[in-house]
Amino acid sequence: MRVQVLRIGHRLVRDDRVTTHAALVSRAFGAEKIYMTGIDQSVKETVDAVGKRWGGRFELEIIDDWKKVARAWKKDGGKIAHLTMYGVNVNDAISKIRKEKDLLVIIGAEKVPREAYDLADYNVAVGSQPHSEIAALAVFLDRLSGGRQLEKAFEGGRLRVVPSERGKRVEER
Ligand code: SAM
Repeated sequence: MRVQVLRIGHRLVRDDRVTTHAALVSRAFGAEKIYMTGIDQSVKETVDAVGKRWGGRFELEIIDDWKKVARAWKKDGGKIAHLTMYGVNVNDAISKIRKEKDLLVIIGAEKVPREAYDLADYNVAVGSQPHSEIAALAVFLDRLSGGRQLEKAFEGGRLRVVPSERGKRVEER
């Protein structure tokens, strides 16, 4: 399955770290790309630098118009899962979503416009309590891959962690 993430909105200052984390979680949990609105170029530079160091292929694209991206995705035959506390519980929705081929996962940084709910093929809740787009994204992507994503190797980086019970082991290539 091909997975990309679209994050709608960005609250200046409060969101600098949160924004970077949304991108890093997308990358680490198996998405190939994140689209973001209203962010600083420095966030992209940070995320690109992580990719160079730790490998894999991941792209952050800064966009102006999220609706254009979402509509183009659907026009190409892709499906959309919008993460919201008001949606259907992920436990009930995930087996159907896993059968899709191309999936765009929408998360919000603030109140998400009505159109996102309407454009979505699935409105999915990671529980019906308010929490965080990063937590919702991590749990959703983990459920999507059934945990297998955590075993994936990221090819081509300069550094690789050698898992160990104690301490830090890092291999340089
Ligand atoms: N009222 C919002 C909602 O619809 O989920 C909570 C806003 S929260 C500050 C920002 C984003 O976190 C939301 O747009 C949504 O993507 C995500 N989020 C928060 N809680 C969630 C939950 N329980 N399930 C799925 N997504 C959630």
